Amino acid sequence: MKNSYPRNIKGHEALLRRLDSHHYQYPVIEDNLRKYIAGFRGEEIISYQLRRLPSNRFLVLKDLRLQFNSQYFQIDFLVICVYFLLIIEAKNIAGTLFFDKEFNQMIRTYNETEEGFRNPLNQVFYHQDLLSSWLSAHHFTFTPIKSLVAIANPSTILKSNAENDLISSKVVHAEELVARIMKLEKRCENTKPLTNTSELAQILLDNSAPLFTNLLEKYNIPLIDIQTGVVCPSCSSRPMTRVTGSWHCDACFTNSKDAHILALEDYLLLISPSITNYDCRKFLHLESRKVAHKLMSSMGLTCVGTKKGAYFTDAQL
Ligand SMILES: [Zn+2]
Repeated sequence: MKNSYPRNIKGHEALLRRLDSHHYQYPVIEDNLRKYIAGFRGEEIISYQLRRLPSNRFLVLKDLRLQFNSQYFQIDFLVICVYFLLIIEAKNIAGTLFFDKEFNQMIRTYNETEEGFRNPLNQVFYHQDLLSSWLSAHHFTFTPIKSLVAIANPSTILKSNAENDLISSKVVHAEELVARIMKLEKRCENTKPLTNTSELAQILLDNSAPLFTNLLEKYNIPLIDIQTGVVCPSCSSRPMTRVTGSWHCDACFTNSKDAHILALEDYLLLISPSITNYDCRKFLHLESRKVAHKLMSSMGLTCVGTKKGAYFTDAQL
C-alpha cells in the first residue's frame, strides 16, 4: 500500500472514491474521515514526542486492542517502565477545551461554536480498570497503572471548573509529555521494580487484536452502490480502458501503467480481503484472465490455491 495511513482511513478514502458524490452517506463518511485523519495526525505527534524517552528504560506500545470478558478496549499508547504502566489517550482537537466537572463532559469551543465530547478522563480511568483486570487475568497483579490524556495540538487552550488539580495533573500538551513521564518515574523510584517488562510487552502485543471494520456494513451501503472500474489518476473519471498493456482515460487521454493498483486495493479494503480472477476482471472491466492474473501477481498480492479455486490476498492490508 502506498500511503502510510491505517487501514480504517484507507478504507474511508476508498469508499469516497467508489461512491457517487451525491450518495446520502457521502457527507457522513467525509466527516468521519476528517476526524480519523485528525486523530491519526495527533497520534503521530504523540509518537514523535514519545520517541524522546530513553529506550533503555521505556517501552512504548501503540494501538493496543485487548479483550476482557468479551469486551474490547483500545489504548492509544501504553508506556511501560519498571515502575509503572502508563496509558496515554491522544486527542487532537483544536480550539478551547473546557473540562466541565458539573456535567462530567468536555466542551470544545472553536470558531464560536460549542461542541460536547465524552470526557476523555472517564475513558482513561475506565481503561485503567480494564487493563488492571486484564493483567490480573494474565497473572500480572502488582503493576501500578497510571494514565494521561495528551493533547496533540500545541495551541489548544485547556480550561476547567474543577477545584482540585485533577485536570492539570491528568491532561497535558504533547510537548510536556516526556517531562511529565520522567517526573512520574522519579516519584516512583522507591517502589518495587518490575523485572519482566519485555515479557509483559510481548504478551500484550501477542494478545492485541486489530480491528477490521466492514465499512459497507457500518454505513449500511449495498454492494450495488460501489462503483467499479479503474479510476483515472489525473481526472478521476472512470472506468479507464485497457489498451495495449496500459490504462487509458477517454476523458483526459491520460495513460497509466499502474492505475489498477488503487482499484484492486479499493476492492480488498471494501468488498473482501481476497479476490478471485473472475471478481478482478469484473471490477477492473477486463476481458483477459491472463492479464488479470498478471496484474494481481505484479502488485505483490499472494496467490492462494490453484486453478478455478485460486484467489489473491494482500498480507499488508
Ligand atoms: Zn482522466
